[in-house]
Amino acid sequence: MDSRLEAVRDTVLARNPGELEFHQAVTEVFESLGPVHDRHPEFLEGAVLERLCEPERQIIFRVPWTDDSGRVHVNRGFRVEFNSALGPYKGGLRFHPSVYLGIVKFLGFEQIFKNALTGMPIGGGKGGSDFDPRGRSDAEIMRFCQSFMTELYRHIGEYTDVPAGDIGVGGREIGYLFGQYKRITNRYESGVLTGKGMSWGGSLVRPEATGFGTVIFAEEMLKTRGQSFDGQRVVVSGSGNVAIYAIAKAQALGATVVACSDSAGYIVDEAGIDVPLLRQIKEVERARLTEYAARRGSSVSYVAGGSVWDVNGTVALPCATQNELDGDAAAKLVSNGLVAIAEGANMPSTREAVSVFQEAGVLFGPGKAANAGGVATSALEMQQNASRDSWSFEHTEARLTEIMVGIHDRCAATAEEYGAPGNYVLGANIGGFVKVADAMLAQGLI
Ligand code: GLU
Repeated sequence: MDSRLEAVRDTVLARNPGELEFHQAVTEVFESLGPVHDRHPEFLEGAVLERLCEPERQIIFRVPWTDDSGRVHVNRGFRVEFNSALGPYKGGLRFHPSVYLGIVKFLGFEQIFKNALTGMPIGGGKGGSDFDPRGRSDAEIMRFCQSFMTELYRHIGEYTDVPAGDIGVGGREIGYLFGQYKRITNRYESGVLTGKGMSWGGSLVRPEATGFGTVIFAEEMLKTRGQSFDGQRVVVSGSGNVAIYAIAKAQALGATVVACSDSAGYIVDEAGIDVPLLRQIKEVERARLTEYAARRGSSVSYVAGGSVWDVNGTVALPCATQNELDGDAAAKLVSNGLVAIAEGANMPSTREAVSVFQEAGVLFGPGKAANAGGVATSALEMQQNASRDSWSFEHTEARLTEIMVGIHDRCAATAEEYGAPGNYVLGANIGGFVKVADAMLAQGLI
């Protein structure tokens, strides 16, 4: 890392002790930015990096709620409003027991660059709670969401901060959150949340957008080597919203997706994952993959525990969670013939894994570029809300495709411009950073 940037990075790490995922996200971005600061000394003089690493505002709050037996629980709620240089803070809410400030800050930090890369007018933010939705009834989820919004509502708004979903927050939760916001504020402010239902201000293609976008990005990377998804053998991690639609899109483009996982294990389905069955089990029944294996029959094997990255494939799409793919898993994938990997999740590959892929010459699409289709389509939802319009599936999907191809091309061109052709990590970090840094300098000392 450039020594001028290393000093800033060390200060950031020291000021934010114990926030390991935030440290990792910051370090990864800083490692790309040396060449930018050679060309743009004004970014150093304006202390852009120091400012960028300090969120504009961080909100931490108590979320009390009662379970179905009347017992009281207390969780912690977060919203980190990281950067509003390009637009209102924008980013999802994650409900998962692993959530603490370091996770929310890593996600919020990544979101700044991701959102800049989309070309849409959205700043970066993220929030969530250490609440564990697993095994909770609908009524418990609703009470939790209502309590969470009873504090959050005062911080958000169409022109201020626009949350959406992430792990543990989908259409059901957005519904309960929106209902409570509307009730407290007495405003039908559609643009305050994205990921809404179709009949009350949602956008077609938003549910599919992150997974579809990841595959579109990967297809563009493959094209640079004269290849495509057609005939590829694909391994996916996760089986939630991102994974399901990544699998669907990859198979629509002619690939066979042979594996996916949940936190308890993974399935191998050599015939190609049955997407309607997977959706039924995961989205409707909210059940585990053991259920998929039980219903699909003998062509499927279920492996309890273990790593889905042991399954060989030519394309890998990590769509589960941060740091799910380490250096050893990366080496295994490479030795099994991996050609390309695109991150549907946020920071699923450790820094060691990224190095392994890059050294092996594997096409590597980092999450902040490859999974930006979700938030980009959230921005399309905001556009539809602002104009009180609703677009067709075809039109919205065409916009998503255009945006993903644009992100790919911008990353590729930036990498080329900075002397690292094919390095999408560098291209994404520099491409996102320069846009935000220019805006911050233009807006004065903010
Ligand atoms: N949570 C998603 C992400 O990581 C989507 C955020 C949004 O739509 O605002 O980008």
